[in-house]
Amino acid sequence: MRNGQNILRIQAHHDPAFVYRVEEESAQKVSQCYQCGNCTASCAFTNDYDFPVNQIMRLIQLGQKETVLRSRAIWLCGQCQACTVRCPCTIDVARVMAALRVLALENGCAADKNLRRFAEEFLRSVSVFGRVFETGLLAAYKLRSGSVLDDLDLAPELLKKGKLSFSPHRIGGRREVAALVKRFCDVL
Ligand code: SF4
Ligand code: SF4
Repeated sequence: MRNGQNILRIQAHHDPAFVYRVEEESAQKVSQCYQCGNCTASCAFTNDYDFPVNQIMRLIQLGQKETVLRSRAIWLCGQCQACTVRCPCTIDVARVMAALRVLALENGCAADKNLRRFAEEFLRSVSVFGRVFETGLLAAYKLRSGSVLDDLDLAPELLKKGKLSFSPHRIGGRREVAALVKRFCDVL
C-alpha cells in the first residue's frame, strides 16, 4: 500500500520457521493455500480485520511472524467456520486462526490488551460452564477493560430478543471441556 502505513519489508522480517510452527500448532497445511480468496469472501468480519484472512494465510507462508501475531484479525475472528467449509484445499482456516492466538500469547504478541482480555474471559466462561455464558462474559470483560458503560444502549434490544440470560446454562462434561481448554491454551 503506497499511500498508507502498511508497507511490509518482507525480506527483512522473513522467519522461515514460522510457517512450520503454524502448521504444527494447527495441524493444517497452510503452505497449500493458493490464494483463491474464498475464505475472505466468506468472512463476515473482513471489513474489521487489519488483514483479510487470505492475506493472513499468505503472510504466514512468507514467514511474517511479527505482522501476523500482532494482527487484530486473529483476535476478531469469530470462529464461525465459514472459511473452513469453503476452502478448496480443505484447510481448516478457522483452526489456523485459533492456533495463531495461541502463538501470539506464547510470544507475548497479543495485539491489543482488550482483545486478549475478551478472549481470556471467553475461555474462562467455557471452562466453567461448558459453553459461553454471554452475560457473565460481558460483565467480566467490561470490569477488566474499564468500559462498563460502553454499548449499554444495546442491552434493551438484546433483552427483548432473549439474547441475554441472567443465569448460565451448564452442560454435562464440564470437567472434560475445561481440560480441553486448558490443554489448548494455558492462559487461565
Ligand atoms: S480459501 Fe483456502 S486456498 Fe483459498 S485463500 Fe483461503 S485458505 Fe487459501
Ligand atoms: S472462522 Fe474467522 S476467519 Fe473464518 S470466516 Fe469465520 S470469522 Fe472469518
